[in-house]
Amino acid sequence: MPYEGSCLCGSVTYQCASEPVFQFNCHCRDCQKSTGAAYVPIMFFKSADLHISGELKYFESTGGSGRKIWRGFCPNCGAQILGKVEIAAPLLSIRAGTLHDPAQYRPNADVYVSQAAPWDCMAEHLPKFTTMPPPPGGRA
Ligand SMILES: [Zn+2]
Ligand SMILES: [Zn+2]
Repeated sequence: MPYEGSCLCGSVTYQCASEPVFQFNCHCRDCQKSTGAAYVPIMFFKSADLHISGELKYFESTGGSGRKIWRGFCPNCGAQILGKVEIAAPLLSIRAGTLHDPAQYRPNADVYVSQAAPWDCMAEHLPKFTTMPPPPGGRA
């Protein structure tokens, strides 16, 4: 089943026919600051499989790893759509709230729970990681 989504105004759309490589809720402070929310629901797809139409504006910051992160926003409505991480270059991360069908998102873990806000809510059944777990299959 393809994964499809868009920004708030619909200027930017995306589609991916392959399954996400991994997916988790990130509770780090950068995710909080860049969205204003308690956490960001993130799905990593292979960049080559993700087709994006419309123009994104990227903002650069430095992640906890010391490596660069670019967050892509719709220049028309300001919605955050995706992230590119220097440390995981062949992957793009989609913000799961932008899916046309948000039920397609099935998180496997909560990460950076050490930075979670006291008013954050987490599903009890998901594995919790203090920071970031090692990527499945090891580092490329
Ligand atoms: Zn938009
Ligand atoms: Zn984060």
